[in-house]
Amino acid sequence: MTKLGFIGLGIMGGPMAGHLVAAGHEVSGFDTNADALARLEAAGGRAANGVTDAVAGAEVVITMLPNHPQVEAVVLAAGGVLESAKPGTLLIDMSTIRPETSIEVAERAAEREIRVLDAPVSGGQAGAEQASLSIMAGGDETDFAAALPILEAVGKTIVHVGPHGAGQVVKAANQLVVGGTYALIAEAIVLLEASGVDAGVGLDVLAGGLAGSRILELKRKSMVARDFAPGFRIDLHHKDMGIALAAARQADVALPITGLVAQLVAAGRAMGHGSLDHSALLKVVETLSGA
Ligand code: NAD
Repeated sequence: MTKLGFIGLGIMGGPMAGHLVAAGHEVSGFDTNADALARLEAAGGRAANGVTDAVAGAEVVITMLPNHPQVEAVVLAAGGVLESAKPGTLLIDMSTIRPETSIEVAERAAEREIRVLDAPVSGGQAGAEQASLSIMAGGDETDFAAALPILEAVGKTIVHVGPHGAGQVVKAANQLVVGGTYALIAEAIVLLEASGVDAGVGLDVLAGGLAGSRILELKRKSMVARDFAPGFRIDLHHKDMGIALAAARQADVALPITGLVAQLVAAGRAMGHGSLDHSALLKVVETLSGA
């Protein structure tokens, strides 16, 4: 049993914290949203009254927040995790944020003898609910080994991918593949329907062939039915495409398809679809064809 602090109990963090409670850990959680705190209590965790309270006495702290400003506010700011946690604590930031913030967090944490991993995840809401996430961790090998028994309560494919920030770079690569896949499935649906072919039947065939993918497997029915309840919001994918393009600039490489997909995601936001699931890229592709 490990004493855990968990901050950010949203679509992903909520079920993840629940799995950690079910695995026998003592979880104190905090979220600015009262409903999220109530869900943790219902799952058997303790609702803390702030970051300091959640982190008090914790051996491991997990953060699952939207983006880098929230990670900076919760971890680096006065009264945050670095100030409140005891030396030796392991901080596992599972948010998807830019690699440079993960590196800064690790450097600032080292000054307080707090160990850090950046450990973003893939697998979506279903992966969080089924404890089957893929987890890509950046940081020291020994800290990864210490985190593994905790991470096994929420994930299935858990890999140490390199030093601080490397987890975020792998996640950026993941997100550009996911965004591009959604854009192409959307184009396939638009082509099939405009040609008078049943898109559901057509995608069933694609799913069984070389074009098959996990996204096609999990999301083709909801896309054809235009069910865009999130899931993973377009707003968050917009953030992730920005992270991928900034990482490409940093690495001095060209990612032309990623650039194009980033603009489609930006268009989705501009059209007012930011709160819909990222499969709503279909609405953008349809609009381009006058649908
Ligand atoms: P979410 O918005 O549902 O959850 C974030 C939670 O953080 C919210 O409950 C919010 O109230 C809380 N929060 C924000 N600021 C806070 C603060 N200062 N103090 C305490 N709590 C605060 O988002 P999500 O979908 O759970 O995503 C979380 C992270 O996981 C993001 O970085 C996202 O990119 C990543 N991610 C999401 C998915 C997905 O399918 N939803 C998949 C993989 C990765």
